[in-house]
Amino acid sequence: MSVKQLLDSCINVIFYSACPLCGREPIKHPLPICRPCEESILQARVPGPVFLQGGLRILSCRVYDGSVKESIKYFKYRHAGNMMRSFERAFDDFTKRNMDSFLDKDLIVSVPMYPARQRKRTFNQSEVLAKILSGMLSIQSSSYNLIKTKDTLHQAELGRRERLSNLKGSFFVTRSELFRDKNILLVDDVMTTGATLEACMPEIVGAGARSVSGLTLARTM
Ligand SMILES: [Zn+2]
Repeated sequence: MSVKQLLDSCINVIFYSACPLCGREPIKHPLPICRPCEESILQARVPGPVFLQGGLRILSCRVYDGSVKESIKYFKYRHAGNMMRSFERAFDDFTKRNMDSFLDKDLIVSVPMYPARQRKRTFNQSEVLAKILSGMLSIQSSSYNLIKTKDTLHQAELGRRERLSNLKGSFFVTRSELFRDKNILLVDDVMTTGATLEACMPEIVGAGARSVSGLTLARTM
């Protein structure tokens, strides 16, 4: 091994750690994952819009699968707040392609977590998302007006009907005037059945919002 090779491998060990998703490629800061994984998120399938109860229209940036799924899981459960940067290009691409859906929006609202759970996780992933979107779309975001007042069971363990009854009455708008006459974009990380978004909608509409539609980072298919 030449001196140069030795130096290069030292630099690699010191400055580059392996990608947390594939474990193979080195990551290049400021990205939290390697370029090939980021590329596979960018190229992942984009689902079409869906309509939930009450005509609530939901757009999702990517299908919840492969690198997208791994990255979101890592982001949520390993407290890796900067993991969201893996989605910036995909997000940017998505918002540009769907600009018509965002033009009339006045306010981005993140789906809240129950305070004790948020303290445990140290951050709310939907809030991180809402802030990124807010910067991209130049629309104000709000994280503390829609709150979660009930510590509900983990949705992942429940069926659709149970999910809805589990969430009933667990969201609350603190100050109606902040939502009144606004076209609101409700943001969450992953949509499975849509029960969470559906449960938030009556509260926002009840506060006098003009319209509500949703955007999630990913959707299970
Ligand atoms: Zn990777």
